Amino acid sequence: SWLQLPLWLNEIFEVLKTEAEEKQIALEITQTANGEVYWDSSRMKQVLLNLIGNALQYTPRNGKVLISAQEYAGKIEIKIRDNGPGIPPEKLPYIFQRFYRVEGSRNRLSGGSGLGLAIAKEFVEIHEGKIRVESELGEGTTFTLEVPVFPETDSLR
Ligand code: ATP
Ligand code: MG
Repeated sequence: SWLQLPLWLNEIFEVLKTEAEEKQIALEITQTANGEVYWDSSRMKQVLLNLIGNALQYTPRNGKVLISAQEYAGKIEIKIRDNGPGIPPEKLPYIFQRFYRVEGSRNRLSGGSGLGLAIAKEFVEIHEGKIRVESELGEGTTFTLEVPVFPETDSLR
């Protein structure tokens, strides 16, 4: 159904705010497109919760996680940027695979199952969107979503 993008983003922000505060991470929406999108709210919410959840999980205390949403050419581009440890370049091709976790994150207290990004990719693709990642060791990681405002997918009707 139609969602108000800024309101919808804000709902997600409210869910994660406490987690960020507890870890003293500055979580900010730096920019948001105005307007409506025809998305599956719960699936796309899960996508953002997984991506922002990762950013909060893997970024050390006092870090920063920035979210922005821009509209152009019938698409919304959402960026989730952190200044955490980054992902080794040779591992980047695998992170969207089911159960894949970068060596080391396995040993962290925050034990996940390695499904978050696989699910995010699947749900973005249901919306005829794309997900990509840029990362630099010691600098941080940026995930970018590019999702049509109005996907043609039948299952969204
Ligand atoms: P789950 O999400 O199922 O709880 P997970 O977080 O380990 O477990 P994914 O979300 O699929 O699984 O992420 C896969 C791996 O990619 C993570 O284990 C982590 O090593 C790496 N990763 C993901 N996001 C980031 C990030 N923002 N910064 C650093 N590493 C990340
Ligand atoms: Mg995860």
